[in-house]
Amino acid sequence: MTGAGELLALVRSGQATTRLDLTRLSGFARSTVADRLEQLLAAGLLVATGPAASTGGRRPVSFAFNHQAGVVLVAALGASSAQIACCDLAANVLADERHAIEIAAGPERILPLVAERLKAVLELAGRADDAVRGVAIGVPGPVDVAARHVVSPPIMTGWDGVDIPRMLGLPYPGPVLVEKDANLMALGEHRTLLTTESNVLFVKVGTGVGSGIIAAGELHRGSEGAAGDIGHILGPGLNEVCRCGRRGCIEATVGGWALARELEARGRDTKACVDVVKLLRARDPEAIELVRSVGPVLGEAIAEGVSFLNPSTVVLGGDVADAEPQLLSAVQEVVYARSLPLATRNLRIRRSELGERAGVIGGAHLIIEHVFAPEAVDRELEPRPNASPPDRAAILST
Ligand SMILES: [Zn+2]
Repeated sequence: MTGAGELLALVRSGQATTRLDLTRLSGFARSTVADRLEQLLAAGLLVATGPAASTGGRRPVSFAFNHQAGVVLVAALGASSAQIACCDLAANVLADERHAIEIAAGPERILPLVAERLKAVLELAGRADDAVRGVAIGVPGPVDVAARHVVSPPIMTGWDGVDIPRMLGLPYPGPVLVEKDANLMALGEHRTLLTTESNVLFVKVGTGVGSGIIAAGELHRGSEGAAGDIGHILGPGLNEVCRCGRRGCIEATVGGWALARELEARGRDTKACVDVVKLLRARDPEAIELVRSVGPVLGEAIAEGVSFLNPSTVVLGGDVADAEPQLLSAVQEVVYARSLPLATRNLRIRRSELGERAGVIGGAHLIIEHVFAPEAVDRELEPRPNASPPDRAAILST
């Protein structure tokens, strides 16, 4: 139903709440607006929320997007942990869980667990299968933008080219979208806290180092999906062997796996990033000193990102950055010293406020924006010749 999607978008963005707003902003005839509103109300996507502020004469009814008109499931997979969540259509977390996983155990081991826990959080949120609008899966590796497959991921042994949605075999209506973890985190942070900013760089320091780029308000994935791969740029004077097989990548010094390797070489019991994070949280002086000492290397790489992208905000997130606040100061110092004054005069560099929930919240936004894009809504509200009465699952799926 042409036009309904556009009206829904105006309400969802907060630009319009009344018929008058909708008519003015859409340029549609009043009768068209009335008709499309009927459709959106009948589909349960809009709710009438009572009288808006009176403009004299009749008191207009205002409309709101119905955040309860379905849920989104998200699995944000990291190298060693998985956040599984059920969110409403405003990306609020209704139920969530955290699991220790070993992503390198491969998809045959990990995906059945993911499918089982997605079902569990859906039940925990008290919602049925047909309420699911879509599922987002975040992965700690590069994702082919067209095929949505993981491609040659350095830390994801056995995942290369795996069709994650097919292998998950989920019973829900709606799309299953696979996205790089740092992209989801960037989206989560942007859509929640930085909505008025157009250009944001999110840098994740966890087991690996990666980034997600928001350009002109949208995720910038690049032509293949490899944009933002900041971990594998060369650091001046670095020569450590990286997981990608090359030498001198900044990740081989700054990444959680590299920090674990360095501490282990010094005789500490650190097999993986998670062990380093535990030491940082316990305020272990040696671990803290090491993370601070690699801050300038990260700062140099971020300074290059700032020169290329000219973001208004750089957000630092991921397990390691979350566990050691001082990493931020080291990065700030280098970035402000190394970048052009024009790039830094209004630049803010701060820590992620969403912390370990950034990926989950970003995943919810990814699905919500996909499913409620104007053309997708129009398509779903098209009357179907053989669908009588219209069945809800059909309306909800894409
Ligand atoms: Zn590398």
